[in-house]
Amino acid sequence: MPAAIVTLAAVVGLLVGSFLNVVAHRLPRGESLIRPRSRCPRCGAPVRARDNVPVLGWLALRGRCRDCGEPISRRYPAVELATGALYALVVATQDDALAIALGLVLVTALVPITLIDLDHRLIPNRITLPAAAAALAAGLALDAGFVPEQLVAGAAAFAFFFLAAWLHPRGMGMGDVKLAGVLGLCLGRAAAPAIFFALIAGVLAGIAVIVRLGAARGRRTAVPFGPFLALGAVAALLVGDGLVDAYTDRL
Ligand SMILES: [Zn+2]
Repeated sequence: MPAAIVTLAAVVGLLVGSFLNVVAHRLPRGESLIRPRSRCPRCGAPVRARDNVPVLGWLALRGRCRDCGEPISRRYPAVELATGALYALVVATQDDALAIALGLVLVTALVPITLIDLDHRLIPNRITLPAAAAALAAGLALDAGFVPEQLVAGAAAFAFFFLAAWLHPRGMGMGDVKLAGVLGLCLGRAAAPAIFFALIAGVLAGIAVIVRLGAARGRRTAVPFGPFLALGAVAALLVGDGLVDAYTDRL
């Protein structure tokens, strides 16, 4: 992919990331995503347009409100940078229009899902359901021959996590189950390595929590699983198809 297109994708990703910060903050609180404009939580001053430029606005303000000096979390520019990097990565690594479209749908959903799951321990239907619909629409519009693989992978991932949530209701919620379905719809067969990576990362993090807090407290500490599914999905975007090919060639 030409460098100019990858750069354009990064800029679009920065702007989308700025909106995803708003989604992650407001959606779980049931607030409108469009109105009112962003305000300083301490003094209520509306954020000026020039201060709202992704990353640069935060840098120019040195991370403080222009009116009252209240610190603005580093999370905002970090999320914008991460989204820009993910958009560039998808466009640079995916081969065709459908793979790019599905990769962009996936990372656009994963950024706010990760933030909301970390903050509130939930994965909203208002993100997973539109992402599922967008993935199917992209398949139908760009390569209907891929839709059966999307549906099989989505149903298999959904069923696998439904079973896991049923057997172990404290560890997994229905939000994780629906997110796994979205991974299948967006990644097709590469959802298998995505889920494999997520489970390994989740088990390692669980062990780390138990080592740090001790077995009794560690087991009671709920670790949200959405961020691990997000990590696994990004890893699978990069190497998933290659892994599936290597594995099936050996059979
Ligand atoms: Zn302020």
